[in-house]
Amino acid sequence: AAKEKEDAKIEGAIQIAVGVKKEVDFSAWYTNVLLKADMLDYYSVSGCYILKPWSYSIWEEIQHWFDAKIKELDVQNAYFPMFVSAKVLEREKDHIEGFSPEVAWVTRAGSSDIEEPIAIRPTSETAMYPYYAKWIKSHRDLPLKLNQWNSVVRWEFKNPQPFLRTREFLWQEGHTAHLTKAEADIEVRQILELYRRVYEELLAVPVIPGVKSEKEKFAGGLYTTTIEGFIPTSGRGIQAATSHCLGQNFSRPEMFNISVEDPEDKVGQTKLYVWQNSWGLSTRSIGVMVMVHGDNQGLVLPPRVASIQVVVVPCGITAKTSDETRAQINDACDELAKTLKKVGIRAKADLRDGYTPGYKFNDWEQKGVPLRLEIGPNDLAKQQTLTVRRDTGVKNPIPTADIGKTVTELLQTIQNDMFTRAQDTYYSHLKEITKWEDVVPTLDSKCVVVIPWCEDEACEDDIKERSARATLKGEAQDERAPSAGAKSLAIPFDQSKWAPIEPGKTKCPACGKDAKRWTMFGRSY
Ligand code: AMP
Ligand code: ZN
Repeated sequence: AAKEKEDAKIEGAIQIAVGVKKEVDFSAWYTNVLLKADMLDYYSVSGCYILKPWSYSIWEEIQHWFDAKIKELDVQNAYFPMFVSAKVLEREKDHIEGFSPEVAWVTRAGSSDIEEPIAIRPTSETAMYPYYAKWIKSHRDLPLKLNQWNSVVRWEFKNPQPFLRTREFLWQEGHTAHLTKAEADIEVRQILELYRRVYEELLAVPVIPGVKSEKEKFAGGLYTTTIEGFIPTSGRGIQAATSHCLGQNFSRPEMFNISVEDPEDKVGQTKLYVWQNSWGLSTRSIGVMVMVHGDNQGLVLPPRVASIQVVVVPCGITAKTSDETRAQINDACDELAKTLKKVGIRAKADLRDGYTPGYKFNDWEQKGVPLRLEIGPNDLAKQQTLTVRRDTGVKNPIPTADIGKTVTELLQTIQNDMFTRAQDTYYSHLKEITKWEDVVPTLDSKCVVVIPWCEDEACEDDIKERSARATLKGEAQDERAPSAGAKSLAIPFDQSKWAPIEPGKTKCPACGKDAKRWTMFGRSY
């Protein structure tokens, strides 16, 4: 009993293990969770971080799933060098204008200057497309669908944040070329749907698919589709992944000149410029997952991506416990973990000597392991184990017979519940707004506004400026902080959640012009 008390004491101390509360200092909470969960370490170059095994394994789960899905779409993996010559990089004007402030350059080798500085790719359109021009000669070479798993460098000056915005990040970038626009359009949406599933089915993070405004679309592209996430604690939107249709902008003759002869044209004189897409999903996804699900005890992992899904902890061992009982309990824990592994559950028995159960509970809670099983002398006698859910804290004894099936179902329930809760929260923070005077107060209450919008670029600038001004009255603006002004996040594909827009009647609350589609506006990362 004394031992139990001691454990309870430790558990008490653990209530504030993360150090700061999520609702009180969100950004300190976030970095503390990452460090305590052993996901990440700081690095000697600012804006760059080390991904430790506990987070990298999540990336591997995402890779594994997504890679298999794109291969079903006949996408092949390849690898292009990370260096891009200045000449090639600067070929597409809109594209380079969008990226140039963030491009890092190699200017020296050893002690001598490099004659022509070489860029490190911020994305690989310009690195790849000269070779697409070379490889695509006939319509029979289409579609060309390549993907690479790599890192890119964007020397961002906005406040860096682990995973969300880093100077080097891991991602995949898909680059495809098609004969027709219709074909390219279909693929853009197929990929976006896979991205939605990565977030919703693997990470249990709800997202809203839609299209970006002209102002927010990918530099040099035709249109950008996005899945938009939401961080309830800060009330900010976050671009979770993007699938771009580049149109013929990169393929046209004065650009990379990627063309084939028209298969319909028997004389063979008409050139068709290919339709291109590019699409990317980065390690930002891991940060979004942490922010959405983590709590004041630390990380909360959805079972689908947890490298340990179940931890089994021996309990109730005191100084009086006989060596025999102690061994029996440890064996039972070990057996239980083995049984679970046999049915494909990633389980581990924590038989570490010299640590109290309380210490172990805390350790695995901080690391976000979805389910804990406890076995003590009583459980042993009754052939049961106590289940403790990480997401809700709910405890429930279950018989050890048929444990594989019970735990499989329980993990599925946890996964579903985590998603449903997060989705309810997201939707309850989406506010339908039709009057300008409601916009800023709604943003200030940490919500995203959905307005019937005119889709005019000048109006978007105006909304950003007016919403920033209204909030910052009297406050000094920290320009490294995420922006205070609201920008358009996405024009959701599913418009049916809101009242139909009546052409000529429904007006944009920001400028009074005719509204086109319901659009999400919010502060964002
Ligand atoms: P983009 O090529 O700009 O469309 O970026 C593709 C995706 O990468 C975006 O949708 C973001 O989710 C993610 N991303 C962009 N910049 C960063 C960054 N600095 N760090 C991490 N992820 C990023
Ligand atoms: Zn407007």
